Amino acid sequence: MLSRIGGMDFRSRRKKAVGVAVAAGADALLVTHLPDVRYLTGFTGSNAAVVLAGGRAVLFTDARYTAQAKAEAAGVRVTIDKRPAVAAACGWMESEGIRRCGFDGTRTTVVGLEVMRKAVSGKVRRGMFVEVGTLVADLREVKDESEVALMRKAALLGCDLFDGMLGYLAPGLREVEVAAELEHAARLRGAEGMSFETIVASGERSALPHGRATRAKLPKRGFVTLDFGVVLDGYCSDMTRTVHLGKAAPGEWEVYDSVLEAQTAAVACVAPGVTAGEVDEAARSVLRRSELDKYFSHSTGHGVGLEIHEGPRLAAKQTQVLQEGMVITIEPGVYMPGKFGLRIEDMVLVTAAGGEVLTPSLKAWIEL
Ligand code: ZN
Ligand code: ZN
Repeated sequence: MLSRIGGMDFRSRRKKAVGVAVAAGADALLVTHLPDVRYLTGFTGSNAAVVLAGGRAVLFTDARYTAQAKAEAAGVRVTIDKRPAVAAACGWMESEGIRRCGFDGTRTTVVGLEVMRKAVSGKVRRGMFVEVGTLVADLREVKDESEVALMRKAALLGCDLFDGMLGYLAPGLREVEVAAELEHAARLRGAEGMSFETIVASGERSALPHGRATRAKLPKRGFVTLDFGVVLDGYCSDMTRTVHLGKAAPGEWEVYDSVLEAQTAAVACVAPGVTAGEVDEAARSVLRRSELDKYFSHSTGHGVGLEIHEGPRLAAKQTQVLQEGMVITIEPGVYMPGKFGLRIEDMVLVTAAGGEVLTPSLKAWIEL
């Protein structure tokens, strides 16, 4: 575990983050969102705040994490404190003469800001906290080499699990049994957990884009959509495949073919410099040709990494430009209420040469 973490360049991530905060007019950066803390220090505990000031990095946590923090956050000064980590961090900043601290307002609650303000004295409170936005989350959108390596592993584990499910899926199984089998296999293969609640949507329920597994039984004939992800070394995978049990009814194959064509077109559109909106449109325009776009009720994809949903968002008219090193999902779907639905989703790495699919499981029509 530690040797793998040791391969990551936390120091250069911290340097970048503090550089952006200073450019935004702050003396230091306060980070409290736990995935951001992990990204900058390697620390995985549940109570933490990090202050970056100049070349210094200080991690605040409580006594439960004394040993873990020292082991995980190499090169970072660890301070154990009884107070909430964020309060300890703010008190320390005042004592160090820091008077303008950048923080991410999108990850700070009203109560949290109050705790921060109360942790410093009245004479420095005014002007102490400067909102600098999603600075660390923005950096996290572009993965470095060590992250890409971990994400490849997570994605391939997802593929192996899906391939294993092909020998298991059968009419009469309950959706919850399918989810349990998949999650059990994931744990046995080393997954720390699932990226999100496993989606198993079968028969008419396949028309629900977010059909969590229920006690419904898989039909003799109809679609089964599996959307799931594993967490491996902190990084999430995310993939969807839709298979068909029994012979296709009229129209089903054609809809599947259109979704597959839309998904393939969007993957082919991925490249550095292309906007998120253009990738979304690549998928949507294929479905429009067969008048299925009205059944495509969500966005085409999202960034993925330490969290299952990160930037960029791949939706209509999004102007954000894709950059080399981003890992995104491409997941168009068609959902016809009362009939059926399906979705196909890959994780895609943005490379100089275009989009590289990290989840190469079969996407052709599968009839079981
Ligand atoms: Zn998914
Ligand atoms: Zn997704």
